Amino acid sequence: MSDKKHTKVLIIGSGPAGYTAGIYASRAMLNPLLVQGIEPGGQLTTTTEVENWPGDSEVQGPDLMLRMEKHSKDMGCEIISDIITDLDLSKRPFTAKSDRGVTYTSDAIILATGARAKWLGLASEEKFKGFGVSACATCDGFFYRGEEIVVIGGGNTAVEEALFLTKFASKVTLIHRRDELRSEKILQDRLLKNPKISPLWFYELIEVLGTSNPLSVTGVRVKNVKTGDIITLSCKGVFIAIGHSPANELIKHVLETHLGGYVVTKPDSTETSIPGVFAAGDLTDHKYRQAVTSAGMGCMAALEAERFLSENE
Ligand code: FAD
Ligand code: NAP
Repeated sequence: MSDKKHTKVLIIGSGPAGYTAGIYASRAMLNPLLVQGIEPGGQLTTTTEVENWPGDSEVQGPDLMLRMEKHSKDMGCEIISDIITDLDLSKRPFTAKSDRGVTYTSDAIILATGARAKWLGLASEEKFKGFGVSACATCDGFFYRGEEIVVIGGGNTAVEEALFLTKFASKVTLIHRRDELRSEKILQDRLLKNPKISPLWFYELIEVLGTSNPLSVTGVRVKNVKTGDIITLSCKGVFIAIGHSPANELIKHVLETHLGGYVVTKPDSTETSIPGVFAAGDLTDHKYRQAVTSAGMGCMAALEAERFLSENE
């Protein structure tokens, strides 16, 4: 059944950027609608402790996002469990079609669709996805109690995942293509001090090994990027943590993007190349990609949408 709904401001995405935009747009009496997407709460729902959200020395990611959802709702934002599948930004009001068959029209749009995990693109990685290969330690770590695990990557995500997985695994090998980690120093210290974690420097994953019936991982083949030497490590789980790409599918052909698909915004602003369309958070941020910066951009987007609407009404 098709349904229609009009709003002054449609917010797409329910991470820190979307919920913060919801709080500010509600307080500006714009009665915003926020569509949550496939991952209500966004990326922080896939992690455990968050230690850099101001005001909380430590908070669980999923709890923080529930609090943000409640805060946004309490301020008056209508939160909808649905996914936007198609956007028409060619004329105002803008039109957004959803998975549930609803057509939303809106006078301004705030895009806050965030980012998603990257994969290496190996055929064997694809084959074992969900059967030993994962990009989410908090989702899947539990299945590897007492097992050996490898983590691929050298950023904050890889180091945090490796540390988290030591709760379950007997041994975690962090495989990185350099001998220098990109992650924060405090995390590096914890990693290097953890007796369950062994780093393997200058190696890259070339194949996930396993059985086909049942689908199950038994190890990995990794290559030394300097010498070309190939070695095999046995493990039951492979966690890919090599970064994230912006979730730009809805707009990549209509909005200006750069640096691998991040939406271009005007300097010191969340305005995109289309007036009335604002972008906030990891969708536009190739540099910081933090909860607090995403929330800050969500605030900016709502304030800018309010100004745009008052100038154009
Ligand atoms: P996201 O959190 O990516 O949320 C995007 C939202 O858009 C989701 O709700 C999704 O459902 C929605 N969406 C996408 N497509 C659609 C669609 N078509 N229709 C409707 N909705 C859609 N940062 C920190 O500051 N501290 C940390 O400790 C920290 N830990 C992290 C741990 C991990 C494992 C990861 C992956 C990231 C971590 N980050 C951390 C980074 C932080 O999570 C991100 O910077 C932040 O979540 C980005 O917020 P966002 O609102 O831009 O988007
Ligand atoms: P990232 O910082 O981009 O790091 C990606 C890592 O994967 C890098 O070490 C990179 O190696 C490696 N890599 C990339 N492509 C690869 C490939 N094809 N093969 C092998 N290795 C590859 O990504 P991230 O760790 O997911 O972090 C994303 C953002 O979220 C960052 O801004 C981060 O600060 C933030 N975040 C923050 C926290 C926190 O504050 N606690 C936690 C998690 C994430 P090189 O180093 O050689 O490039």
